[in-house]
Amino acid sequence: MTETYRTMCPMNCLPTVCGMQVEVADGQVVRVHGDPANPESRGFLCLRGRATGEIIDSPSRLLRPRVRDRRNSDSWRDVTWDQALDDIAGAIRTAGAHRTSVWCGHGVIVNMVGLAMSLRFANMLGAQLWDGSIVCWGLGGFGVWLTGVPAVNSAEDLAENAELVLLWGANLASQPTTAPRITAARKRGARVIAIDIRRTEACDHADQYMLVRPGTDAALALAMMHVIVDENLHDHEFIEHHTVGFEALSAHIAGCPPEWAEAETGVPAGDIRALAREYAASRRATILLGGSSMNKTANRWYAARAISCLPGLTGNLGRPGAGMGPRHGADAGVWYNAFGGIVPHDHKAPETVIPSEMDTILSAIESGQIEVLILPGTNMLSSYADTARLERALARVKLVVCIDLFMSDTSRAFADLVLPGTAWLEESGLKFGPSYIHLMDRVLDPPGETRPVWQMFAALAERLRLEGFFPWSSIDGLLDAILDKDQTGHAKVAELRASSPSVRIDVPSYAYATLEFPTPSGKVEFFSERAQAMGLPPLPIYEPPVHGTAYPLAFVQGRSLTQFHAFYDHGRALPSLAKADPEPVLWMSTADALSRGIGDGAMVRFYNEGGEMRARARVTERMPAGTVWMCDGWMGINRLTSSARTVPDAAVAAFPPSGSARYDAFVEVSAG
Ligand code: SF4
Repeated sequence: MTETYRTMCPMNCLPTVCGMQVEVADGQVVRVHGDPANPESRGFLCLRGRATGEIIDSPSRLLRPRVRDRRNSDSWRDVTWDQALDDIAGAIRTAGAHRTSVWCGHGVIVNMVGLAMSLRFANMLGAQLWDGSIVCWGLGGFGVWLTGVPAVNSAEDLAENAELVLLWGANLASQPTTAPRITAARKRGARVIAIDIRRTEACDHADQYMLVRPGTDAALALAMMHVIVDENLHDHEFIEHHTVGFEALSAHIAGCPPEWAEAETGVPAGDIRALAREYAASRRATILLGGSSMNKTANRWYAARAISCLPGLTGNLGRPGAGMGPRHGADAGVWYNAFGGIVPHDHKAPETVIPSEMDTILSAIESGQIEVLILPGTNMLSSYADTARLERALARVKLVVCIDLFMSDTSRAFADLVLPGTAWLEESGLKFGPSYIHLMDRVLDPPGETRPVWQMFAALAERLRLEGFFPWSSIDGLLDAILDKDQTGHAKVAELRASSPSVRIDVPSYAYATLEFPTPSGKVEFFSERAQAMGLPPLPIYEPPVHGTAYPLAFVQGRSLTQFHAFYDHGRALPSLAKADPEPVLWMSTADALSRGIGDGAMVRFYNEGGEMRARARVTERMPAGTVWMCDGWMGINRLTSSARTVPDAAVAAFPPSGSARYDAFVEVSAG
């Protein structure tokens, strides 16, 4: 008999989360499809989500703990869980807690339980705990946080109320369920303008699009501010009561006219003026800021800082349809205290803390300060900046433990122990969406010797005598503890099971209705004393990317509809994703391809001083000359990116996701 269960797609395309129905017969998944009753996705399930049905019985699944005596060899042998856990606990005891680190990836954010318990373990033990967001949205979030507008309006608010939508670096491949809301807004008469470095799917949903050179978004935002102030289009009353630093900002942007920005961005000055006037004229303008890719260019977080000043300058805040739109990593209220009561404070001695900053982390590992590295659900090697440096560093770690569904680049090259995790249908958990929390109940028995991450940490905690690590009588007790918040009405798992798996979170549909902002002044900060105290520019600034003549093309990485970071061994473990996206593809403009004698579909080599990679060329009019683009997650992509420091430790201490490296890269491409 076939039974249908309601759950969630295990991927994390936040702010998109998708409800899923799974049909199971005789313990086998026979079909997965979208859940029309899910209030956030309303039946949508993309190719990536549909492919997850292939995880369960995949012949590539890890089913037993494995160990090997020599890295870079394939001499794996099975080991019992007890032996594996004894070995890890012994290594931690020998190394000491502060020479142990836990680095979590998206694989443990599948249902929040794995992440919560990984963090709980690290902090109770006193291990190093680094923030996974530093490979993703962290720097952009930092810029927005400094300005004071980290909270966002909902997708429903955008659909119902926005009259102008700027999709600024926001690729809808990352948040596909926002697309129907944009379509709804347009049907109502809203105008949509996409700004990006290539013609993305978002451009196809827009009334107008503008292509900027990578790393120059801040110049465009500063020039827009210049026009708005120069033409007296700013909101005087809002600025007087709800912002600080307008005088300093006005003086600063006087030197940023559209003609200057045209030379930097490639956007004609007339278009910049028109965009600024249209934005300033709207009383209900929403900006959807990109999550990850735009923070991996030379201009780092300056873009998010400058763009997030625009709503304050025009009074586009605190009203329906006005403000910042759905964004990965946004402060949606419940996220920031998601694990209150679950994750205790870190009790390491301050002098032993290795800050969550990429260059610092690499230096610490390089110098032998980390002896045990536990990697739940992450392919660190493909996602971290400067792969060659990371490889040299990981070679010094005495014990690397990977917990995953499949082997990955990292486990193949560096793991000493690989532990088999359960998939989303084989354990119970919760998915946090922007407006709801959703129950993901266990519907299948775990295959082989697979275990949930939380069980692995509970067993380790017992060996290391971490008293009270799992004080709940069952997994339901833990889920109830996570749900126990004002925003959920203190919901209980049993209630979700008995009624609907989705519980509405009490977050407003639009942010900052009270016009109180989370900054030291309580106002939108054009001038940030916080930034100044950290040694950072107090005003939004722009720094031009530095092109070398040897490597003239700006290299940008992003997201596609078939790939999401390095999930499932870059999709190679799932046949439908492997078929849709079988190999690395480098997008390049017709002009750049012609001048290099490269045809569409040819194999190319792209390289810089850091390394090289091979890919198939996609020659397309969707790319402007001077820029090449590739989907992120492919192994080797970060051989070309920089691990140079971006922000000081003070910024990391104040806003932990900000500790990202520069990630920028310039390359040359040749046939072959
Ligand atoms: S958009 Fe993301 S969450 Fe939704 S189905 Fe696709 S992969 Fe899953």
